[in-house]
Amino acid sequence: MGLRLPLRRSTSFTPDHPALMEVPGPTALKMEANVLVMGADNVGKSALTVRFLTRRFIGEYGDMEFIYSHNLTVDGREILLHIWDVPSSQEQAEDGSLEEKRIQWADSFVLVYSICDRASFNILPLKIQFIKAAKEGQSQEKVPIVIVGNKRDLHHQRVVSSEEGRLLALSLDCGFYEVSAAEAYHGALMVFHGLAKLIPDTKLALKKGTGIRGIVKTMSAVFARKRTDSL
Ligand code: GDP
Ligand code: MG
Repeated sequence: MGLRLPLRRSTSFTPDHPALMEVPGPTALKMEANVLVMGADNVGKSALTVRFLTRRFIGEYGDMEFIYSHNLTVDGREILLHIWDVPSSQEQAEDGSLEEKRIQWADSFVLVYSICDRASFNILPLKIQFIKAAKEGQSQEKVPIVIVGNKRDLHHQRVVSSEEGRLLALSLDCGFYEVSAAEAYHGALMVFHGLAKLIPDTKLALKKGTGIRGIVKTMSAVFARKRTDSL
């Protein structure tokens, strides 16, 4: 089955001066990590990702698929995060093997649900167990995962309490945040910052020359698919 490769976007982030920038070229030496943003349809995966990257909330995000590259400084370490925001409809339509390949690609995971959507919360334990089974088989290290309850601003429609979210995270040994991608940038920053803190140095690939071409190479390796189009 063919996999539509996502587009790649790069942004650079400094707290006081957000600016668009190219990913460093082939000579740059970088700490890098791949982040997969997962969850049910319509929970705000794209809103959260775009909020983190641009500080903005634009309301409607369509169903485009991107891997975004974004610099973040955590505990004095500069980390280039490659963030894959998977369109939900695709997630549901495909067979599990593609999801498994994405999970193999990723070093760390953001699992989003909506506090107004019980079903989006209920699917998380199974997804997280699936991720852990796939990743922890390969190494003894804990898989960096954060659970995010989004749409906190819609408190009148809340059906999942904060305690339930926190307990789930505790029981599965994950980070936990409740945020509103619509209302604030800070929560989105906390999510990705908190996730990056969970990634041990051993998981941060220190690679020479992993810019855009490097990502494509990684993707091609994961999906065993030759790209012929120019980048
Ligand atoms: P995805 O399918 O998980 O990527 O969800 P989207 O990011 O496309 O968001 C789905 C819908 O929820 C859109 O209409 C967003 O504007 C809305 N949305 C996303 N985050 C929030 C939030 O924090 N609060 C509110 N009220 N709406 C949100
Ligand atoms: Mg989306």
